[in-house]
Amino acid sequence: MLDLLFHNVTIPHSSERMDVGVSDGIITYLAETEDEAAIAKEVIEADGNVLLPGFVEPHIHLDKAYLLDQMEQDATNLTEAIQFTSELKKSFTKEDIRERSIKVLEKCIGYGVTHLRCHVEVDPIVGLKGMEVLSDLRETFRDQLQIQLVAFPQEGIFKQPGTADLMEKAMLLGADVVGGIPYNDDDAVEHIDFVFALAAKWNKPIDFHVDFSDDPTQLAIRDIVKRTLAYDYQGRVSVGHLTSLASVPYHEAQLIAEDIAEAGISVMALPATDLFLNGRSDQERVRRGVTPVKLLIEKGVNVSFGTNNIQNPFTPFGTGDPLDIALLLAQVAQLGTKQDAELLLDMATVHAAKAIGLEEYGIALHNQADLILFDTTNLRQILLERPPRQTVWKRGVKQRDNNSDEKMIHVAHGAEI
Ligand SMILES: [Zn+2]
Repeated sequence: MLDLLFHNVTIPHSSERMDVGVSDGIITYLAETEDEAAIAKEVIEADGNVLLPGFVEPHIHLDKAYLLDQMEQDATNLTEAIQFTSELKKSFTKEDIRERSIKVLEKCIGYGVTHLRCHVEVDPIVGLKGMEVLSDLRETFRDQLQIQLVAFPQEGIFKQPGTADLMEKAMLLGADVVGGIPYNDDDAVEHIDFVFALAAKWNKPIDFHVDFSDDPTQLAIRDIVKRTLAYDYQGRVSVGHLTSLASVPYHEAQLIAEDIAEAGISVMALPATDLFLNGRSDQERVRRGVTPVKLLIEKGVNVSFGTNNIQNPFTPFGTGDPLDIALLLAQVAQLGTKQDAELLLDMATVHAAKAIGLEEYGIALHNQADLILFDTTNLRQILLERPPRQTVWKRGVKQRDNNSDEKMIHVAHGAEI
């Protein structure tokens, strides 16, 4: 007998109403809806409402979320954002990082996020405090959402002596992914080489912040493509921002997009930050500063999007709801059709899952039962209305139920660092 059966749901890419059954946290039954439902301990009559796989947040910073109150002045460009954050980082404590991270994580769970990849600052200013706190939270939250940690050298690797050593230590502490940020070192190629060598040594995937500018000559992506092929790392490299590409002449951008697709590199658009910080030097015809999403998709690149920052110098906005970013990207990238709405939901789920290398993900047999039920039968309405997530399940266990007075299930706050 099934533990749980969703009777009569709408799921993406199926014109038929479906029944989805769960046993031991796994999807074990999937069939077109029959009048006679399969037998289960609990049956949810969905009346055609939409069931999505849990949202995947592929790019977020927890350790520097919610910094607005601590800032003496607001940042208006990338250099200031990095500078101000660097200054604030000096006073970060483990307790403070933990508190701000938990605030984001609890919100994300409520929005239906079941997997999240977070970039953790590793540098001589903050040391390994973020890594220590977040590896602890990765464990604490494991029944609510799965967290991947990226060892992220925000301040550059060679510009900040000691960082290379700390990156190695971050891997020892259990980082899941090697991060990089070539635009923050004088020699981007040296930076990229370091990241690939470290990733190969630990056999871990790679996630770069790359080409975050409006300068069409800043194209470290070309070197990343080359190294991806040389290291045989196709499918294991992701990049965030990639905004310079939007300023490159179209015919040239097309060729680069083709190379990215061929190297199996996933691209994550980060529109909230990119719109806020880019295009600042344009007096007229201000550029949008977001990676050319439509072109990349057209060329077969796996494109998703991320929240990136929450209420800090890089982005003084953000709630952690993937649907906020989905709507923002829809407006900016002019993705307005019914099909586009469904594409955006795919980007927040299956495309993001592919970008961060998830297995056993999505509504299909043998996958984890990470599911969100919405109070609408219409997929497009999810983007247009961004309705509250009616109920969220992680491995078949209910995390939130907006139909009852039951509050969101919180992590055991007893687990202290
Ligand atoms: Zn980022």
